Amino acid sequence: MRKHIFNAGPCKLPMPVLEAASKSVLEFNGCGQSILEVSHRGKDFEAVIAEAGELMKELLGVPEGYHVLFLGGGASLEFAMIPMNFLRTKAYYLNTGTWATGALKEGQLYGMDKAIEIASSKDKDFTYIPKYGKHYQMPTEGDYYHITTNNTIRGSEIHEDYTCSIPLIADMSSDIMSRPVDVSKYHMIYGGAQKNIGPAGATFVILKDEMLQRIADRPIPTMMKYQIHVDKGSMNNTPPCYAIYVILETLRWLKGFGGVSEMYKYNQAKAEKLYNAIDNSKMFRGTVEKEDRSLMNIVFVLEEKYKAMEADFVKFAGERNIVGIKGHRSVGGFRASTYNACTLEDVDALVKAMQDFEVKNA
Ligand SMILES: *Cc1c(COP(=O)(O)O)cnc(C)c1O
Repeated sequence: MRKHIFNAGPCKLPMPVLEAASKSVLEFNGCGQSILEVSHRGKDFEAVIAEAGELMKELLGVPEGYHVLFLGGGASLEFAMIPMNFLRTKAYYLNTGTWATGALKEGQLYGMDKAIEIASSKDKDFTYIPKYGKHYQMPTEGDYYHITTNNTIRGSEIHEDYTCSIPLIADMSSDIMSRPVDVSKYHMIYGGAQKNIGPAGATFVILKDEMLQRIADRPIPTMMKYQIHVDKGSMNNTPPCYAIYVILETLRWLKGFGGVSEMYKYNQAKAEKLYNAIDNSKMFRGTVEKEDRSLMNIVFVLEEKYKAMEADFVKFAGERNIVGIKGHRSVGGFRASTYNACTLEDVDALVKAMQDFEVKNA
């Protein structure tokens, strides 16, 4: 029996995607070869990567003047490539959690005075998003402003597209395609595919062409140059072909679902259900400021007097086929990742488990 999967990443994928992906492993497109065997330079794969790029643009409404890339190395490699390519004088970073800190650290390799932490929510264990105008002023000079729109581990999310007069770069690993985004407000959006649009192994990058005029004057290894990846259409070397193919199937599924705006409504419904259950419980409570709560990673803990029962709840839920709700090792408690492929039925099962556990134990 298929489980209720709340894994934070790699994520749950829709069954039609898994079915198409498994068929293509045996034979792709009736071409007498597996998707694992076709040449990345052949027409079959070229059609795959082209359609995946087009669907990224179509589903997100990417305007003219942007490139879509599919690369290796994960979002973590982008953390390093961004300052290597774009940090010339100084850049600003908003520190909202573990991954944001990781991105900042790679920038700081060029000097603490070059990659500046403009604000941080570390003072409250990253349970809120620092607000411009209140906690800091939007940067007005510098090479770029880096933000992490969804904090996968802590469960907070930026629910608006910032207006910034310097290039805005966003790590959207865990909320890409979960809500409509005004791409024109960003110079770069990137992330690992494995949180919401596919399997592990591929990284998506949406890069404004104008950014290529702002490349830093330093030696950059070939595979770390955005210009090369743009010039070669993500094929300077063998790209993560299979991962890109599964991204394509996931994007086709999303289009069939009604696109990002329909998905956004569904994601809101799932999150509302789960947050309501948390807020109405005597046993469980949320950790993040309500206005900053993530729609994708719902983090909650047991009230102090029930703390010892954490492992019991994970086991209780496990007996009901619910997996992936243990919180990140750095935070503890629970985290339910309600990415696009997670269904209302999955959420209902979790809510019921929470309620039954409470009846039994509170
Ligand atoms: C998972 C995650 C990363 C790291 O992604 P990798 O592809 O594993 O390198 C970076 N940022 C965010 C927001 C993430 O959720």
